[in-house]
Amino acid sequence: MLQGTPIFILKEGTEREQGKGAAANNIQAARAIADAVRSTLGPRGMDKMLVDSMGDVTITNDGVTILKEVDVEHPAAKMLVEVAKTQDQQCGDGTTTAVVLAGELLKRAENLLEQQVHPTVIARGYHQALEEAHRLIEKEIGIPVKFDSVPELTDVALTAIGSKGSFGARNKLGEIAVEAVRRVTEERGGKHIADVDLIKLEKRHGGTIEDTELIQGIVLDKERGHTRMPLVVKDAKIALLNSALEVKKTEIEGKINIKSPSQMQSFLDQEDQSFRQMVDAVKASGANVVVTQKGIDDVVLHYLAKSGIYAVKQVKESDLQKLAKATGAKIVTGVRELTPADLGQAAQVEQKKVGDEHMTYVTGCANPRSVTILIRGGTEHVTQEVERAIQDALKVVSSTIEDGVVCPGGGATEVDLAVKLRKFAPTVGGREQLAVEAFAQALEVIPWALAENGGYDAINTLIELRSAHEGPRANKNIGVNMADGKATDMTVLKIVEPARVKRQALSSAVEVATMILRIDDIIASKKGGGGGGPPGGMGGMGGMGHGH
Ligand code: ADP
Ligand code: MG
Repeated sequence: MLQGTPIFILKEGTEREQGKGAAANNIQAARAIADAVRSTLGPRGMDKMLVDSMGDVTITNDGVTILKEVDVEHPAAKMLVEVAKTQDQQCGDGTTTAVVLAGELLKRAENLLEQQVHPTVIARGYHQALEEAHRLIEKEIGIPVKFDSVPELTDVALTAIGSKGSFGARNKLGEIAVEAVRRVTEERGGKHIADVDLIKLEKRHGGTIEDTELIQGIVLDKERGHTRMPLVVKDAKIALLNSALEVKKTEIEGKINIKSPSQMQSFLDQEDQSFRQMVDAVKASGANVVVTQKGIDDVVLHYLAKSGIYAVKQVKESDLQKLAKATGAKIVTGVRELTPADLGQAAQVEQKKVGDEHMTYVTGCANPRSVTILIRGGTEHVTQEVERAIQDALKVVSSTIEDGVVCPGGGATEVDLAVKLRKFAPTVGGREQLAVEAFAQALEVIPWALAENGGYDAINTLIELRSAHEGPRANKNIGVNMADGKATDMTVLKIVEPARVKRQALSSAVEVATMILRIDDIIASKKGGGGGGPPGGMGGMGGMGHGH
């Protein structure tokens, strides 16, 4: 048992696991998660079928989607799921890599623990290796890319799209992703910033992936509210409301107590009056287009149509915000507070037919840095898959524009780091050296898994890769060619990823692995009280099984 005097006085019967037992239990759980997603890594990764308690099925090979959906009980496993989410938020890519690496770092750590290397020493060694890895990526492995180099940005986009599986029109999707990010890129203080949140993704099934297009402006998944409204409004003045243009039914029921037909009539007149006032307020502001987050009463729609105003109701909050950014409009709550200064501008608002349905196109916006990618595909499943791929592509292209550095993919970066870290290890000295070596070994899980998922002999591939990265003719860009499992220059195959994705995946993996290693005591706190103790509690731990 690892040292440590008990500082808690525990009630009899409290579940507790200490020392090596605790560490082994946590490591097992985390590794189980890593093993589960490993087979999805890379372009040849297998899909997972997720079935929820309602029997609904999701089929995906996206690491973070899998981990978000799976109901994980064990606290250490949950930590790994968090890593995937962090990686996804920060980079939009590299989630599977981060989780698989974390699992492998823990596996190697287990061997060291057996050799009586203290967890703190392992953690310190891992951090030293991480620091050196970051330095190597920056100084030796990274390849500079100019922010406006379209062909290289397209390579980055295509690598991300390609590793999500294979679908048609890949090249077109890559070009669209690059063009979209370039449109939203701006220079600020000598830096290039590409805010992908400005890019709106809209899906419409029917047609083919080839029909996917980039639209300069905002496309809303909504038709105009009344058939008498104009189909096209030029020189649009747009009002955005996050409230409804209706009279709440509950208000009416609460207030009226009708005793005679004349009372009924006066009530209806009153209601009509307030509808007219709403429309008058819109007209007074000078708006010829009104977009609301909530509903619009049919009577109001009728009056708006009569006034030649184009109205769209029930628009998502996030879309309203994008419209505000694009047109310069201010989102207003009460229609009576609407002023001319709140209106946004666009050259044209038009209803168009896409597939079997109508959509609203807002083009020629005041802010030219707002675009929509309208995703098309045969079925909903296809458009969803394409959306996930495009989301990844947008993020990797923006990372590349912002940082200007890419790394070779296909495991090349990991193998090169492994070779170089093995040389670095002796300079660290002490027992930490063993941890640096373990770190190097752990990195090789990436090319290993890529080869294995491609159906190749992973041992042969790894041996080939190692030798290509050593000696006088070493080439840091050699990785796994998924077409034949052979060692190939990834810059020739144009398989490149943003350095940011690599750096962040390493950091997240080390962070979670060392955090799990440092735990030597698991105590199940009492349930109840402030909302239920640790997630999962001890109950979940048994489920993953004790390793030894
Ligand atoms: P992640 O969730 O970590 O991004 P992916 O399933 O997207 O996982 O796989 C990414 C890995 O696949 C990276 O190591 C990347 O270099 C590699 N990869 C992607 N496309 C190719 C390819 N065409 N050939 C070889 N490796 C590839
Ligand atoms: Mg990926």
